[in-house]
Amino acid sequence: MTAILKNFIGGEWVDGSAVTRNINPSNTNDVVGEYAKADKAQTEKAIAAAKAAFPAWSRSTPQERYDAFNKISAEILARKEELGRLLAREEGKTLPEGIGEVARAGQIFAFFAGEALRLTGEKGASVRPGLEVEITREPVGVVGMITPWNFPIAIPAWKIAPALCYGNTVVFKPAELVPGSAHALSEIITRSGIPPGVFNLVVGSGSVVGQTLLDHPDVAAISFTGSVQTGRKIAQACVLSTPMKKFQLEMGGKNPLVVLDDADLKTAVEVAVNGAYFSTGQRCTASSRLIVTAGIHDRFVEAMTERMKALQVDDALKAGVHIGPVVDQSQLDQDLRYLKVGQDEGAKLAFGGELLKRETPGHYLQPALFTEANNNMRIAREEIFGPVAAVIRAKNYEEALAISNDTEFGLASGICTTSLKYATHYKRNSEAGMVMVNLPTAGVDYHVPFGGRKGSSYGAREQGSYAREFYTTVKTAYTNP
Ligand code: NAP
Repeated sequence: MTAILKNFIGGEWVDGSAVTRNINPSNTNDVVGEYAKADKAQTEKAIAAAKAAFPAWSRSTPQERYDAFNKISAEILARKEELGRLLAREEGKTLPEGIGEVARAGQIFAFFAGEALRLTGEKGASVRPGLEVEITREPVGVVGMITPWNFPIAIPAWKIAPALCYGNTVVFKPAELVPGSAHALSEIITRSGIPPGVFNLVVGSGSVVGQTLLDHPDVAAISFTGSVQTGRKIAQACVLSTPMKKFQLEMGGKNPLVVLDDADLKTAVEVAVNGAYFSTGQRCTASSRLIVTAGIHDRFVEAMTERMKALQVDDALKAGVHIGPVVDQSQLDQDLRYLKVGQDEGAKLAFGGELLKRETPGHYLQPALFTEANNNMRIAREEIFGPVAAVIRAKNYEEALAISNDTEFGLASGICTTSLKYATHYKRNSEAGMVMVNLPTAGVDYHVPFGGRKGSSYGAREQGSYAREFYTTVKTAYTNP
């Protein structure tokens, strides 16, 4: 076993009070690493360090930030294969998916290098004679970041980069399941020349490290991605804290993919398989509801099951594997529970759902497809977060659209059609924050806003220049010259 990896607080790598391990979900005998866990006192130290570093960093020059981000981006991109391998080993994404995610983190830092140079601010005449009005943006202060396990490099990157870019300081708490990717990203950030205290890493549980961030008056804002249940707790804590904290929540989804009679069948199947099952279905944007109109329904189900037979489910690091393992035993138990719920509710398990044995002991589950489901079933209403999708038959486009919108969530949605009329109507009327036409619900760019509506998201959008809204606060100044 290699050394226990440390937390980064106030510019120094420090030991923790306990140790946590990350286990390879493709081979549960493989311990990826050991990590020092921060406790409440260390989290408070990290917050104090971030607070002390804030005044100078908030006044640092755009050039300083630009140089640091370019360094971070260059190192991430140069090491994308190695880091992608670590990510795949730790979280169970396939190697190409892992490398793709790492590359995206590098691109995000490159984007924010440029963003750091962007001039902002407005100056104009007052409605009162002789006065001037200036509108400027200022950083918010110390930002606590609480992130999930399923995109352990890209999600932290899309929070940390804009936070630092706009002059904030950061205390980063990754999910306990994936400290390895968080540690690797953090090491690269610490080598970029940013001053001590500007960026801090505290590994530990939500109930200790996360809660300390929520309770602390010196944390001005919380950026959270994770489940709705945790998101609600975070919202409550931020509103009830003194002073109140700014917060943004990116949460779950039950994303619909509508397939219309006029869709190109091959495209629709590829879009559905990718959206529902790639990354083992463990994506907030996964299309777990496949709403298919009557004229294409039977052909679609037949083509889907044929396509699913060809999916290789195996060790995430093996070449040619399409679907890696489920992340851990507790997520696997949840998937299996929903497979039973679906059958008890009267849906038909048309394909998959079996536990698979491979060379190494891992959490392997054959991707599952339910048919004869309806939108009132729990498998159509609740986020499963695994490789499980349900086909719901709709009479026509109008019914498909109504089913598509009949959900508490609103993250992503998609439609497969060759009709410009229906594609346009769906883009305008889908109640999701991100809409895809003839594309998987789960593939997004790094330079445009990411986020949802209804129960999926709360607060400002993430990614691209829209991230500025959360990481800055507006000041209006009046002058009588
Ligand atoms: P989770 O259980 O809600 O955990 C997310 C983070 O919150 C983890 O770092 C967790 O720490 C922390 N946490 C848990 N309880 C906390 C508390 N009481 N106070 C403060 N922090 C607390 O979610 P997950 O299982 O990691 O991730 C899966 C969920 O994330 C799914 O619902 C998925 O849809 C959602 N997600 C959404 C997006 C999006 O952009 N909309 C993207 C990816 C994932 P520990 O785990 O270390 O205890």
